[in-house]
Amino acid sequence: MATTVYQEKSFRENVNLVFDIASATLELSEGLAYVLKGAYNVYQVRFPVKINGKIESFIGWRAVHSEHKLPTKGGIRYSPLVTQDEVEALAALMTYKCALVDVPFGGSKGGLVVDPKKYDDDIMERITRRFAFELIKKDYINPAINVPAPDMGTGPREMAWIADTYMQHRTDDINGLGCVTGKPLSLSGISGRTEATGRGVVYGVREFFRHAEDREKAGIEGTLEGKSAIVQGLGNVGYHTAKILESEDGAKIIGIIEHDGALMDRNGLSVEKINTYIKEHGGVKGFPDAEYFEDGSAILEEECDLLVPAALEGAIHMENAPRIKAKLIAEAANGPVTFGADVILRQKGVVMIPDIFLNAGGVIVSYFEWIKNLSHIRFGRLTRRHEVNQNDLLLKALENNGHKMPVDLVEKLCNGPNELDLVRSGLDDSMREAFQQIRDRYWSHDKIESYRIAAMAIAIEKVSLSYQDRGVYP
Ligand code: NAD
Repeated sequence: MATTVYQEKSFRENVNLVFDIASATLELSEGLAYVLKGAYNVYQVRFPVKINGKIESFIGWRAVHSEHKLPTKGGIRYSPLVTQDEVEALAALMTYKCALVDVPFGGSKGGLVVDPKKYDDDIMERITRRFAFELIKKDYINPAINVPAPDMGTGPREMAWIADTYMQHRTDDINGLGCVTGKPLSLSGISGRTEATGRGVVYGVREFFRHAEDREKAGIEGTLEGKSAIVQGLGNVGYHTAKILESEDGAKIIGIIEHDGALMDRNGLSVEKINTYIKEHGGVKGFPDAEYFEDGSAILEEECDLLVPAALEGAIHMENAPRIKAKLIAEAANGPVTFGADVILRQKGVVMIPDIFLNAGGVIVSYFEWIKNLSHIRFGRLTRRHEVNQNDLLLKALENNGHKMPVDLVEKLCNGPNELDLVRSGLDDSMREAFQQIRDRYWSHDKIESYRIAAMAIAIEKVSLSYQDRGVYP
């Protein structure tokens, strides 16, 4: 393995370095590589909002990385630290992520410099509606062209305001509700969208655990049952990941790191109790049933089987990477491991499941939601009863021939799949399939040294194929 020492780069440069290494494993013309790497366009807005009698000014961006497929797709992030560079890097990741998991969208991302904790609901609604209006004016929100979703600092509430603002301005767009995904169910959202990214993370990790060769590479044996995990960030992605790992897979969540410190208990923490505590107190400090550490980031360096960074980019960098003791890093956040840290960790034998694959669950289920919005019907509405009736006939025929079926099986067959079952099934299938492609590429290609490069190479190949098949120029 190369021992080159890298300087820490910006998020955008980190993404580009991975792109360069992955594209070198493919036969790609220089011109096409250039097209696939750069952002198509970035729109910057600055707008005023009157707050408590004073005018405050807000700045935000929506970047479109690739329009090889439309609409382009990607979340909107609210954070006081968001920058144009970050938004562009995240838009690029969206292009590669969608391609990798076969979601037919281009890549986009938005960001607004705002601290949502600073303002009450009414003010956040006004800020969001104004930001949405600025983007709608230029078609940076439109069900056929650009479809945002939640990201850090935003959720179903903001998506509902954005959808409503769009429909006020485009009253004749019959597909208006498809202008944004991650909406509440009452506004044609889809069951399972809120948990989708976290659930997708777990489905991806489960698929990794199904392959003995891959487990061995990380020095891990057996299943997720009893494995120790540390999770950074108990927000949307981190909470669902931790909760599902704990309740469905029997993993032990031994550490939870939040913005105000960390909690540790090697016997296992209660994710639900901590989540409730955070909602009431705004952080983990003061939680009574675990040891508290003020320096949360130091807990990233504790011994564990599985480390799940689910908060910010660059959480694991060249300075702390040499001290990381986890065997497997499940990148739930976008860009949580810098390029330089990746090199150090691989030299130590740490295996990383990369973000462009592992947190794709959100966009996969967003794709299902968008299809639901365009088709104006919930999944399973036409077929569920029919399936149940068919199963009923089959069971009766078996029973008439003297076969007694177990009650739990009869119940499952007689209920039929609801929307949530179908969404989870589609998500699980997409995650399994994508990981199998990544590991196949990794194990069969000498020059590919990580899942990250394998995933990026597959993504670039798929995007470039789309450009080549339809022609680069309109
Ligand atoms: P969120 O805002 O719901 O949660 C982020 C959590 O991290 C919060 O609980 C916050 O308090 C915590 N946090 C902030 N600073 C921290 C610090 N220094 N140390 C520890 N914790 C800290 O955001 P989210 O939607 O869960 O997104 C998290 C990450 O996942 C981001 O990188 C985002 O881009 C990525 N992601 C999100 C989705 C999605 O569907 N929401 C999809 C794909 C990727």
